[in-house]
Amino acid sequence: MSGDSTLCVHGGHPPPRPGAPLHPGPVLSSTFHLADPLPEDFYGRAGNPTWRALEDAIGALDGGECVLFASGMAAIGAVLALADGPVVLPSDGYYLARALARDLRLDVREVPTTGDWTGLTGLVLAETPSNPGLDVLDIATITGGLVAVDNTTATPLGQRPLQLGADLVVASDTKALSGHGDVVLGHVSTRDPDLAERLRTWRTHSGAVPGAMEAWLAHRGLATLDLRLSRQAENAAAVVDVVKDHSAVTAWRWPGHPDDPAHAVAVEQMRRWNGVLTFTLADADAVEAFLAASRLVASATSFGGVRSSADRRARWGDAVPEGQVRFSAGCEDTDDLVADVRAALDAVP
Ligand SMILES: *Cc1c(COP(=O)(O)O)cnc(C)c1O
Repeated sequence: MSGDSTLCVHGGHPPPRPGAPLHPGPVLSSTFHLADPLPEDFYGRAGNPTWRALEDAIGALDGGECVLFASGMAAIGAVLALADGPVVLPSDGYYLARALARDLRLDVREVPTTGDWTGLTGLVLAETPSNPGLDVLDIATITGGLVAVDNTTATPLGQRPLQLGADLVVASDTKALSGHGDVVLGHVSTRDPDLAERLRTWRTHSGAVPGAMEAWLAHRGLATLDLRLSRQAENAAAVVDVVKDHSAVTAWRWPGHPDDPAHAVAVEQMRRWNGVLTFTLADADAVEAFLAASRLVASATSFGGVRSSADRRARWGDAVPEGQVRFSAGCEDTDDLVADVRAALDAVP
């Protein structure tokens, strides 16, 4: 049992027992019957069987022990809490990671994703492919006291940072892993049992705990991750083929395309592609015109869902051109999505 879809479909499910449900529901209790010694479950902030089922499934994909958190940011917060000195973050990665490190008054050094990640000390939290720029960093070359990689865009099917030398992998499971736009969730995985224990203790003390319902919905969504990624990547490739030759588009990025500057490194370390690409139109008005003309592409932040969406990242303060769109290819029929994107681009004045 090692194929992507088999792990996604079967991961975290208990062995068969006559009369037990094939699809167990979420355990919603905050309190559990006590005994001496304490049973594994005793209070909902410390542990929950529905979390553990999903942690088993994600851990098997990441190749480590998974600790679930209430959100991707809660997971990043838990990683930053491991720092006992300087912290290195990407200058072009997810903006709230930098904001949180500032809030915590950490001693932060910023390095661009395409910069030099060797010879670093302290906690290093890299992100590849970076959000929103989609630059790619060779994970095996990163050095640091403790190396963590934000794997949100790739998902554990797209990339296995722990196998490439990282100590920790962190992700927002709000995106493709859950995949239906109805859950906020995150996780950290590691092969080091001491780090896993520190992360669990941080979760219990900080209270950054996921809801059982969210964990259950994410586990249900995970079953189709392989299928969804396949269609999303197929759709992204087809959308890139439209945008790269369209006169309204001045730039585009998708590491899966041979002409993308990150493709060579991406091919070396990534296992497969996903649906996240960027393209740039003249300005914010051009993006508005594109979105108004499209019937399938929602104007929405976040990515990795079954519905295609587009987000103008300059809106959120990312240091990118005003007309840059982060496009998340969904699971629509490829022909329909291509026709819609082409028509919407044609409508840009
Ligand atoms: C969305 C995102 C996060 C934050 O995750 P939430 O689940 O929204 O808290 C962190 N890193 C990356 C790369 C993201 O895209």
